[in-house]
Amino acid sequence: PVRVRFCPSPTGNPHVGLVRTALFNWAFAKHHQSSGAQFVFRIEDTDAARDSEESYTQLLDAMRWLGFDWDEGPEVGGPHAPYRQSQRMDIYADVAGKLLDAGHAYRCYCSQEELDTRREAARAAGKPSGYDGHCRELTDAQAEEYKAQGREPIVRFRMPDEAITFTDLVRGEITYLPENVPDYGIVRANGAPLYTLVNPVDDALMEITHVLRGEDLLSSTPRQVALYKALTELGIAKRTPAFGHLPYVMGEGNKKLSKRDPQASLNLYRERGFLPEGLLNYLSLLGWSLSADQDIFTIEEMVAAFDVSDVNPNPARFDLKKCEAINADHIRLLDVKDFTERCRPWLKAPVAPWAPEAFDEAKWQAIAPHAQTRLKVLSEITDNVDFLFLPEPVLDEASWAKAMKEGSDALLRTAREKLDAADWTSAESLKEAVLAAGEAHGLKLGKAQAPVRVAVTGRTVGLPLFESLEVLGKETTLARIDAALA
Ligand code: GLU
Repeated sequence: PVRVRFCPSPTGNPHVGLVRTALFNWAFAKHHQSSGAQFVFRIEDTDAARDSEESYTQLLDAMRWLGFDWDEGPEVGGPHAPYRQSQRMDIYADVAGKLLDAGHAYRCYCSQEELDTRREAARAAGKPSGYDGHCRELTDAQAEEYKAQGREPIVRFRMPDEAITFTDLVRGEITYLPENVPDYGIVRANGAPLYTLVNPVDDALMEITHVLRGEDLLSSTPRQVALYKALTELGIAKRTPAFGHLPYVMGEGNKKLSKRDPQASLNLYRERGFLPEGLLNYLSLLGWSLSADQDIFTIEEMVAAFDVSDVNPNPARFDLKKCEAINADHIRLLDVKDFTERCRPWLKAPVAPWAPEAFDEAKWQAIAPHAQTRLKVLSEITDNVDFLFLPEPVLDEASWAKAMKEGSDALLRTAREKLDAADWTSAESLKEAVLAAGEAHGLKLGKAQAPVRVAVTGRTVGLPLFESLEVLGKETTLARIDAALA
């Protein structure tokens, strides 16, 4: 059965590129679930200098928020536990020892300075500038001498002198020539194992069948394919997984979206009130599509249709506007009760500017259905309903100046009169009142309602106005118009 994995390193905040990788792996596993496919979540925390416990906690929290479940991994356990690499160090030391014993790896005593000097010289001579194999065939006597000099060796994997070919699930057949894939370090001089070792070793031990990951890791694949061959020979790996490299995600100015890019931070999307389903729908389009004419779909629809071979190898462009538009569509799709609940974080402290006791549940329930048709992201709810819960409308000078033109006082006076006489149980009646006021002053509805909206809500744009007035109530609405006229 299919076994895929998501194996982030807990460095910094989770970012959207990482989420896309998790999504494609998870969807692939879910797609094949009926035949026993499994999704493994592993934490690659072998870099003590960069990994943090806080980031680990954030990763788990992000996975839960996104709605991803895993068959094996942190908090869930599984037959290959532990799933945090920091707890698997003895395994890596053991495997490194076996690779050394079998001659698949060797100790390399070259200092960084020597490596740099020789690399420069090779470059100047127009030769390949990777590791030159200096310590490949050291005699015992040479090794002893280096040790006597106090040198501490790293462990280096011995690449076979042959081309490496593999069939990428997204890109097709790829061949790397030996001169482009030099021997590479797998254990540091201080004994710390590197990504180059721990990642494939765990994929092997955890019996991963498909590795779906970002294109940035493509160049490590020929090394890993060679390592798998050695691990298989040693009885540690049962197979070499299939690899599929997901396209780069491009950000502003057609530059690769980097995880340091503020636009890439998952937290930003959570804070702005993206729905996980909206964000995932958008991220799935970065390299994949359900069909040419359907951009909006549920995660179930994606899972049912997802196949790695349909992933497009070309770079995908991250388009925030489109991401928002798709999120807006998912907001519309929510059950209204669900929408009403999901807005809660933006209706209370520390986000909301009104006093907690000023919040009125009945008003919220009444306005929520109108808000649901308007928002792109949930955080927009705060500004859209503040007029209901603040003692006075926010005073935004620019909005005021824009809406209050010459003649708006006269209009407002008429509108007040008509509104006073209207039926306050019907938004339609309130609309007719403002319409009639407009007519009296030769204004169309749009022009006539602008000063009313600003007087009552403090803003030039917002939720459907007459429904808003109805929820706010007659007394407050008229008092605000009076205040604007004063
Ligand atoms: N820990 C690695 C990363 O976050 C995993 C890469 C891979 O999927 O092989 O980049």
